[in-house]
Amino acid sequence: MLSVLREGPARTRTELAHITGLARSTVSQRLDALLRHRWIVPADDVISSGGRPATAFAFNKAARLVLAADLGVTHDRVALTDLGATVLAERTAEVPIDRGPEPTLAWLAQTFTELLAESGRDLAEVCGAGIGLPGPVEHVSGRPVNPPIMPGWDRFPVPEWLVERLGVPVLVDNDVNIMALGEHWAGHSEADQLIFVKIGTGIGCGTISDGRLHRGAQGAAGDIGHIRVATADGVLCPCGNRGCLEAVAGGAALAARVAAAGLPARRSRDVMELLRAGHPEVARIVRQAGREIGDVLASIVNFFNPAVIVIGGDVAEAGEHLLAGVREVIYKRSLPLATQHLRIQASELGDRAGIIGAAVMVIEDVLAPEAVDSMVTI
Ligand SMILES: [Zn+2]
Repeated sequence: MLSVLREGPARTRTELAHITGLARSTVSQRLDALLRHRWIVPADDVISSGGRPATAFAFNKAARLVLAADLGVTHDRVALTDLGATVLAERTAEVPIDRGPEPTLAWLAQTFTELLAESGRDLAEVCGAGIGLPGPVEHVSGRPVNPPIMPGWDRFPVPEWLVERLGVPVLVDNDVNIMALGEHWAGHSEADQLIFVKIGTGIGCGTISDGRLHRGAQGAAGDIGHIRVATADGVLCPCGNRGCLEAVAGGAALAARVAAAGLPARRSRDVMELLRAGHPEVARIVRQAGREIGDVLASIVNFFNPAVIVIGGDVAEAGEHLLAGVREVIYKRSLPLATQHLRIQASELGDRAGIIGAAVMVIEDVLAPEAVDSMVTI
């Protein structure tokens, strides 16, 4: 019943009985329980079919708060949201993740506490915290596993450490997965099959399959940056293999290509600046990277048949130059049936995809029917 109210407009008792197939007495009993726990609130009265005014009930997004964090290698974003993943308070910071888990998480717990205090809210109102980390995470345990750029974090018990300090449930996943959740929630909830591709220093993708995040057997799904591409033959990748997509089309590789063309670029950010300044050679290099990414995505389109591909991450700022290269190869190489209605778009949430997705991860967990049943005693 709660999910009907979450996903749709306010409903009366009669409508809820009709939609759920439950007896009116059962509907009333459950509504009372949900009202008591403030999960729902009475909305405006509506005129029922019998002509008498009837009270409609709506999901109460303000019932609880969610803490959300998107921790990057150098940039962090921390937020307080409601149950509609609307950001109520937000802060960005630059805390290098290679300082190790304890200083980073102590800073995070402190920042959560400060955001609550600034908003005049209390930890008692919080139903959970969602954290995104820039490396592989075993979602069940919430532990990072051999994260290449996070020294000291391997198998660190992130949820336990934070639960001890915050006293609320903590869920952890890798940043690309939570960004996929955020984009799906915010702009593409109608698309049951969605691929989110993050192009930053590295390249990874988050997969929504049948409306749910597909994490794979161990949580390692979506690591497309180390798929081999023909044009990268022989190029050494930081992972130790040769010919990986990331080694030619990742942010660092792009900067190296632009520098090799005699232009001043050390990081992907420099490449974006040169592109904005209208350098044709940089546009050509970015479009070529788009083609290489498109080469890998064309195979994924054939295999997975997504309805939407969303491109995000720092390099996605390159916008149409990059997307043009991606589209060119996908439409040429994928099956017509798979590309007939395929949409390939830039991220709509940009830098906020991670925190929105981290909040959504918690909301979906807290509001799962079994979870609500155990919280709401009838
Ligand atoms: Zn590699």
